[in-house]
Amino acid sequence: MSAPEITRLSTDQADFNQQLDNLLAWESVSDAKVNAIVDDILADVRARGDEAVVEFTNRFDHTSAASMVDLEIGPQRLAAALANLPAEQREALEVAAARVRSYHEKQLTDSWSYTEADGTMLGQKVTPMDRVGLYVPGGKAAYPSSVIMNAMPAKVAGVGEIIMVVPTPHGELNELVLAAASLAGVDRVFTIGGAQAVAALAYGTQTVPKVDKIVGPGNIFVATAKRAVFGTVGIDMIAGPSEILVISDGQTDPDWVAMDLFSQAEHDELAQSILVTDSAEHIEAVTASIAKLLPRMERRDIIQTSLQDRAAFILARDMDDAIAISNRIAPEHLELSVEDPEAVLPKIRHAGAIFMGRYTAEALGDYCAGPNHVLPTSGTARFSSPLGVYDFQKRSSLIMFSADGASEMGKVASVLARGESLTAHARSAEYRIKK
Ligand code: NAD
Repeated sequence: MSAPEITRLSTDQADFNQQLDNLLAWESVSDAKVNAIVDDILADVRARGDEAVVEFTNRFDHTSAASMVDLEIGPQRLAAALANLPAEQREALEVAAARVRSYHEKQLTDSWSYTEADGTMLGQKVTPMDRVGLYVPGGKAAYPSSVIMNAMPAKVAGVGEIIMVVPTPHGELNELVLAAASLAGVDRVFTIGGAQAVAALAYGTQTVPKVDKIVGPGNIFVATAKRAVFGTVGIDMIAGPSEILVISDGQTDPDWVAMDLFSQAEHDELAQSILVTDSAEHIEAVTASIAKLLPRMERRDIIQTSLQDRAAFILARDMDDAIAISNRIAPEHLELSVEDPEAVLPKIRHAGAIFMGRYTAEALGDYCAGPNHVLPTSGTARFSSPLGVYDFQKRSSLIMFSADGASEMGKVASVLARGESLTAHARSAEYRIKK
């Protein structure tokens, strides 16, 4: 295997901005053929419910279910999956789940209120969602860590019921995924996937309860279906390919940097790995590490393609220049592989998760550090945040006027309502003005 030829850019080159834009450009999912397929599936599930879900599942996942009864996994089966895991896996899953739980407990926010001098009370009431749906991809690979990361914040938020869907091609169950569901407190699990599972969760069927929000990643059929049902239900996000940006001061072991780039690239061919450094020698050293380490990697073909097509080494003038590039990219994962990450941190403006210092590999955050690994991709860290407890709660405004308060504010409301020619509004407020 030849070493990948990784794009090299330098902030000094005249066309750097254009080159960077080209590097970041990515065809987002919108395919007319897929849209048509998904629309048909959504409409059919909405009209026929369970029957359609069973038919699509048998067709796409090569199962032979007679009814939805065959596509639900009961609580005893989930508990057994956890109980029967090899001790080492069970312990690792438990450590990860406990750490993710404690981290997310810090995100809980309380309702609040305050009372004004005339006795008027104003506030905000925080309420968890009643029921959410968790999509766990299962077509090609199954990720128990995604079950923990999606279910735990919902659990901590106090969501009433968590419904998980996971396709099981040829009926093969993934024991780790079931164990993770049990550990994270998932209430019901259906072995369905694709657009039909999203439709079942969004509209409800005779068996699958309708949810308020659908979270979790999936392939183009899942992403397209989620986009289509948004509005009927909430959704978390439409995630793009995963990315890492490493800012290195040139002092980190180049093997560590190379492997951190691989850890992103091995997800899929579209994943993006970028190294930004002010050291030209470091770029050469990491290049040599990649050539040395890549042939030994199990997923070397995917890594090779991802690095060749999507990776870049960017030579910056100095650390401030490196930080400016990172802020422009707003990466999903940002590693600050530098001596004093706390000194750099105040200058970082946009990133999904910030991994501080040479010891903090993204992989630790992916599994067990505690923060969520569902993060904003494709520059959306400019305006959005990691999946969290706040995604499973909503806020209601509270307003309680005293008689004095209603009288005072009635005068203000009346003036504004008459200015808008809304007389019923004005009179409704005026009734409450003291004579
Ligand atoms: P999946 O569960 O997303 O999709 C499988 C389903 O796709 C099948 O059950 C079927 O219903 C549907 N499908 C497949 N072919 C179809 C067709 N021709 N017509 C209609 N429906 C069809 O599993 P997957 O395919 O392995 O994809 C997993 C995806 O999730 C990948 O894109 C992966 O990158 C992504 N992923 C992302 C993260 C993350 O954190 N960002 C984590 C895990 C997985």
